[in-house]
Amino acid sequence: MAVPKRKTSKARRDKRRNSHWKLSLPGMTKCPKCGEFKLSHRMCKACGYYNGREVVKTEA
Ligand SMILES: [Zn+2]
Repeated sequence: MAVPKRKTSKARRDKRRNSHWKLSLPGMTKCPKCGEFKLSHRMCKACGYYNGREVVKTEA
């Protein structure tokens, strides 16, 4: 059976474990219309726009 040649140092192990979390949610992009952060491939929550047109009426 394959066995690791060297012990993984604490720093190396912790770096590997810590590399999976992200600062911001995945797929967060800025809305091209209002600049608000939105989920990509979803309409903007702030202005109701998606793909260059208004999808949902928002209170102005
Ligand atoms: Zn928007």
